[in-house]
Amino acid sequence: MEQKIFLNGEFVSKKEARISVYDHGLLYGDGVFEGLRSYNGRIFKLQEHMDRLYKSAKYICLDIPLKKEKLIETVIKTAHLNGYTDCYIRVVVTRGEGDLGLDPDKCSNPTIFIIVDKIVLYPDKFYKEGMEVITVPTQRNASHNLEPQVKSLNYLNNILAKIEAKNAGFEEAIMLNREGFITECTGDNIFIIEGNVLKTPPAYMGFLGGITRKVVMEIAEKLSIGVREEVISRYNLFNAQECFLTGTAAEIIPIVKVDGRIIGDGKIGNVTNKIRTAFKKLIEKEGTPYL
Ligand code: PMP
Repeated sequence: MEQKIFLNGEFVSKKEARISVYDHGLLYGDGVFEGLRSYNGRIFKLQEHMDRLYKSAKYICLDIPLKKEKLIETVIKTAHLNGYTDCYIRVVVTRGEGDLGLDPDKCSNPTIFIIVDKIVLYPDKFYKEGMEVITVPTQRNASHNLEPQVKSLNYLNNILAKIEAKNAGFEEAIMLNREGFITECTGDNIFIIEGNVLKTPPAYMGFLGGITRKVVMEIAEKLSIGVREEVISRYNLFNAQECFLTGTAAEIIPIVKVDGRIIGDGKIGNVTNKIRTAFKKLIEKEGTPYL
């Protein structure tokens, strides 16, 4: 089946899906996006992703020209037309075509597109044996610079951190804030298990509020695992019993070594495994059907 991309009200082929070089999404990273996932013909947490998209847009004063309900319908339709039972869905809204200046008022029509495709972030080996990551010099954007809760097209902050990790031979980076506390990774949130409690940084540390993060916290509560949002330092991290990352694309990925320090016994921990099993069960049965 040929891939169908939704672009500004039409369904077009990948070849036809072209946007202007004057689009401010491209010229300035002026726009917002979401990454969703479907399992067994159902889109996981569709409403939550769309809520976050509209909140991101509101923050950057971008009026999405479709009502949320209509965009939700369009996402479902695009997923349906592409026909995969399991897929990754990218929803992007840019400021649209303008001139070469910054002025967003010169952009009268936001560009909207939806891509349905497959995504593989990390090799299977990391899910089976755990991944090694490092902390990097590039700090996560502070809220007063570019609010990290906004899922904007400005990912250079994260890309620089990713480059630093890759230059050192690793696939993922842990980003610190200005005070040196743990925020998140370049495309995933972070959790540790310390004293048998599941801990993740509080929002004011500065990171994207992940939908998978929230799901994992809810799962932990249901499993009677203590959950706490707590400031996490590199010291806490190195001495944690377990560590894992969460994200829509990455799902739950265990971390067994950070900055050369072995986490716990260097193997995927029990709590991580329990949460992963519960997460797998949940994604199989939940979601908005589209096939
Ligand atoms: N942090 C960043 C910077 C991200 O881009 C993402 C999404 N890839 C996440 C965290 C995880 O968020 P979610 O669970 O909503 O996918």
